[in-house]
Amino acid sequence: MMKPISILVIDDDPNNFDVIETLLDDQDYQLQYVSSGVAAIESLDYLNPDLILLDVMMPDLDGIEVCQRIRAMPEHAAIPIIMVTALSEKQDLARCFGAGANDFISKPVSGLELTARVRSMLLLREQYQQLEAINTHLEAKVLERTAQLQAIILQDDLTRLPSRVCLTQNLADLLRAKAADFAVVYLDCDQFKLINGSFGYAVSNQLLIAIAERLKPHLAAGDLLARLSGNEFCFLLRQIDGVPSLEPRVQGILKSFDTPFAVAGIDIFITACVGIALANSAYQYPEQPLQDASIAMYQAKQQGAGSYQFFCPEMHQTMVQRLALESDLKRALERQEFVVYYQPIVRLKTFALVGLEALVRWQHPERGLIAPGEFIPLMETTGLVVPVGLLILRQACQQLYRWQQQGWSELTVSVNLSVRQFACSTLLDDIDQILAETQINPARLKLEITESAIMDNAETAIGIVEALRSRQIQISIDDFGTGYSSLGYLHRFSVNDLKVDRSFTNQIQVSESKYKVVDTIVTLGQQLGLTVTAEGIETEPQLRRLQQLNCELGQGYLFSKPLPAADIDTHLQSNPVNNALLKPAGMTLA
Ligand code: C2E
Ligand code: MG
Ligand code: MG
Repeated sequence: MMKPISILVIDDDPNNFDVIETLLDDQDYQLQYVSSGVAAIESLDYLNPDLILLDVMMPDLDGIEVCQRIRAMPEHAAIPIIMVTALSEKQDLARCFGAGANDFISKPVSGLELTARVRSMLLLREQYQQLEAINTHLEAKVLERTAQLQAIILQDDLTRLPSRVCLTQNLADLLRAKAADFAVVYLDCDQFKLINGSFGYAVSNQLLIAIAERLKPHLAAGDLLARLSGNEFCFLLRQIDGVPSLEPRVQGILKSFDTPFAVAGIDIFITACVGIALANSAYQYPEQPLQDASIAMYQAKQQGAGSYQFFCPEMHQTMVQRLALESDLKRALERQEFVVYYQPIVRLKTFALVGLEALVRWQHPERGLIAPGEFIPLMETTGLVVPVGLLILRQACQQLYRWQQQGWSELTVSVNLSVRQFACSTLLDDIDQILAETQINPARLKLEITESAIMDNAETAIGIVEALRSRQIQISIDDFGTGYSSLGYLHRFSVNDLKVDRSFTNQIQVSESKYKVVDTIVTLGQQLGLTVTAEGIETEPQLRRLQQLNCELGQGYLFSKPLPAADIDTHLQSNPVNNALLKPAGMTLA
């Protein structure tokens, strides 16, 4: 049963109510009557009318005042009000509407008019209520969606850990409360890109979930562990008083990486570096401790895999220096301060000079010659290595062309390609342009890439290596053995040359077991049908051992340091064309 529509008549004269009741008799309305404004206002809560017919002239409160008061009552403000006025009160109409009335009827009231006005007013009210209902529904929906979005924003999809936003909010709360007992522990997994490249995203994602699970037990009550992005996690630890109490916990966190992660049937070993920022009254915004912790993490990375560092203000200084170096490097590119040095590569059996490795040097206006170790890593992170690398490649090819013109047709020039360069989409176009420009015989150009360049994205890398090989260009794997094991992939790449990293050559005299590593790598290269080049030969015992192993090529200070092209020219000119020797005994070049 629907509730009947109720109409409240407010009039000091009961006769007027009788008239209205008679006129609306044939309608299904429930009529209520009160004889004064005061009584009307008091009764609204329990009468709850759908419509009010309100007399204008009344002794205590007049209709206009009553209308105003009803409009001021939030629960009843929406009730439609029709003013009932004598003709003589017409001048009050403006005031009626001003007070919030919706319509009016003149006395004497006619049945037809009353029915029509009441009906249209009720219809309006009904439509208004429907709109209200829709609005309420929409509002509820919006609230619900907002809550869902909040949940999404606050949680990391993959690991179900709190997100960066959630961490930031928590940190903001702590800073507002002036908490002095928290630590931000920023954790970044080492070499994660290699794992991505080697095993693919599905496995990497599972690994991240496994890492999250292994980190969770390090949480105490009130702590929070968030995934920031990619391979970065962050603890917000509470009730920390200083470094001594925190250090064992951080060591514990790093220790959880000691055992491999069994993911998709594979045992994956991974390490992480940690940077820590302790609560500090200077912190105002959550970004500050986060940034400090990440700066400390960056410092830890410099120390090597599995390290941790507490933030200290001097680290800012290091960052500032880094930024200064970065802008210096940009200027150096514009001012063409990069020069190429060449280090001879020798056939170990005959001491024939077979090639040269192009190595960049920065001719700094004040500091003199700077070795690449000081600036290549930074150029790699900023991407500057791409244009600079191209510059080196172009210069080296121009030099190779000159040697080829002089008749040194067998001499190879090796140029290092950084990970970033190798991943650059314009690499092949750029190389084609340089080949066309310099007119070299591409069969004498070798490009040195590292295992990381390949493992970052093995499938793409295979394509690029093949495209380079189809141009006759030779490929070396540089620093072999120092990167993430790529043995499984090596046979899929048509590379020519494998360079044994200096750190292995170094060990030859030092330790029997390490020297076995050189043994293994040289044999492995030979079995794969690759030319093996030993880097960093410094002593005669090293040379002799490598000769015994039948290691084909070598380079190192024992033969020559990297030299300017002019010095190489001098040496070449003192030898028959295409037949230069470089004996360790005659270290005339060094
Ligand atoms: P790399 O490609 O493995 O180059 C060999 C490094 O070993 C060179 O260091 C060379 O000077 C050094 N070296 C050679 N023989 C000996 C030795 O007997 N003893 C010792 N202690 N060192 C020796 P350099 O020139 O400082 O270059 C370091 C690294 O910087 C290179 O390692 C290479 O990865 C990178 N690099 C150099 N030039 C370029 C370049 O033009 N582009 C790119 N992307 N990277 C470059
Ligand atoms: Mg190299
Ligand atoms: Mg190397």
